[in-house]
Amino acid sequence: MTPVGSVDDGTSVTRDGALPDVTYDVTVVGAGVVGCAVARELAARPGLRVALVDASNDVGDGTSKANTAILHTGFDAVPGSLEARLVREGSRLLAAYAADSGIPVEPVGALLVAWDEEQLDALPTLLAKAERNGYDAARIIGPEEVRSREPHLGPGALGALDVPGESVICPWMTVLAYATQAVRAGVDLHLNCRVNTVDAFDGDVRVLGTGRGALRTRWLVNAAGLHADAVDRLLGHDDFTVTPRRGQLIVFDKLARDLVRHILLPVPTALGKGVLVAPTVYGNVLLGPTAEDLDDKSATGSTAEGIATLREKGRAILPELLDEEVTAVYAGLRAATEHDDYRISADPGRRCVTVGGIRSTGLTASLAIAAYVTALLDDAGAGLPEAGDLPPVRMPNLGEAFPRPYQRADLIAADPAYGTVVCHCERVTRGEIRDALAATVPPGSLEGLRRRTRARGGRCQGFHCGAVVRELFERGAELGDR
Ligand SMILES: Cc1cc2nc3c(=O)[nH]c(=O)nc-3n(C[C@H](O)[C@H](O)[C@H](O)COP(=O)(O)OP(=O)(O)OC[C@H]3O[C@@H](n4cnc5c(N)ncnc54)[C@H](O)[C@@H]3O)c2cc1C
Repeated sequence: MTPVGSVDDGTSVTRDGALPDVTYDVTVVGAGVVGCAVARELAARPGLRVALVDASNDVGDGTSKANTAILHTGFDAVPGSLEARLVREGSRLLAAYAADSGIPVEPVGALLVAWDEEQLDALPTLLAKAERNGYDAARIIGPEEVRSREPHLGPGALGALDVPGESVICPWMTVLAYATQAVRAGVDLHLNCRVNTVDAFDGDVRVLGTGRGALRTRWLVNAAGLHADAVDRLLGHDDFTVTPRRGQLIVFDKLARDLVRHILLPVPTALGKGVLVAPTVYGNVLLGPTAEDLDDKSATGSTAEGIATLREKGRAILPELLDEEVTAVYAGLRAATEHDDYRISADPGRRCVTVGGIRSTGLTASLAIAAYVTALLDDAGAGLPEAGDLPPVRMPNLGEAFPRPYQRADLIAADPAYGTVVCHCERVTRGEIRDALAATVPPGSLEGLRRRTRARGGRCQGFHCGAVVRELFERGAELGDR
């Protein structure tokens, strides 16, 4: 086992070798936004020995890295569902957490635009639904107001539901903040550690067979996202099947950012929430996602057909957007199941909690899901110690609406590395790359470094800076010593 985290402060992040010869009180399987939030919540319980394990070489490397990054209000959730409740609570919790920890959030608001009479007629029902979901700030606005608030909108908008509470957030820093806080509070994070088998109990302990050997645990939280059904079957359950629902997206260049002020939502249909146009906190514009039910849980590629569909829909919403340069395309897989709601349940006999079916709102709901899971563990008899306060965490800023290091004379004066731009498209400095490589949860790949700094994520996609960034990555944490 080679620790790669900040071992000086006693924290433990491992990516290879045998696992420690200890028995964990709770093991969280899956280090996406949900698993990291759960681990963070458990980390607040003093004395509890917690492991967070993931098959991937990084945290947030599954669905949590590829979504539309909206901090939802939950105005359009199914009233009375667990999802509606946890999205509403999670939205409030995450907004406050982001403000405290420096995760960029832009409260741009959303306009749910009606393009024909049928959609216009649906707006009062959507307004009533929002109110049933406890969201009172929505209102219906007419075509003149829509046009004045979104001057570049395509022709034909008849009205809109104004939802001022919707925001855009940085999904990558959210996962990383949770993981960082959890690890600093004593959680062991084991990466490249897929759980393949679950043995029967020996006393109150069971052995998980992982790609890195045996891991002993008393309790287990299954937060395996797309694979939560498979892990659940290892535990002896057969409650749901995950069908990956692919969402393809197009990222437009920053020059497109002035074309759109709000998140532009379509009126939802029976087939889903539909294609939206949204700004990102990085200063780009997103168009997507598609909704395609697939069999393959690794099918995160984009297709010519999917991109063509998005372009056609985008042209109707914001025609000028289609004239802008495309920076990237990507796709994420929602963990859809045959059930309409989240599948979160405890099995006291098997000493586990399953967190399944977290489809299209898991980023928003993550902190509320974590609190809910912890309460289930407690009720199931896990005997968790009383929660204490976690030391706060302050994350690097990746958002364009807030000062970035290259803009801060004070930082550059104190440390010239913040004045040395390495990635010119995204204005990422050598100081930021160095910090990411030496952080509590360092990246395991260039992709992981991109999610922590935006290096290689801009319009040239690393064509110019790729070699330098790779060299810095390969030098790793030692960069800080030179
Ligand atoms: C296109 C799209 C748009 C979306 N937009 C939004 C949005 O705007 N706002 C919002 O709130 N939500 C959104 N979502 C939903 C959100 O992204 C997900 O709900 C959330 O990321 C799910 O997180 P998770 O931790 O459950 O899953 P994941 O992030 O997939 O994490 C699960 C982890 O489990 C690991 N794992 C799996 N099997 C094993 C095993 N056997 N052993 C060890 N580890 C294992 C995986 O490697 C993975 O890292 C969107 C999703 C998609 C696809």
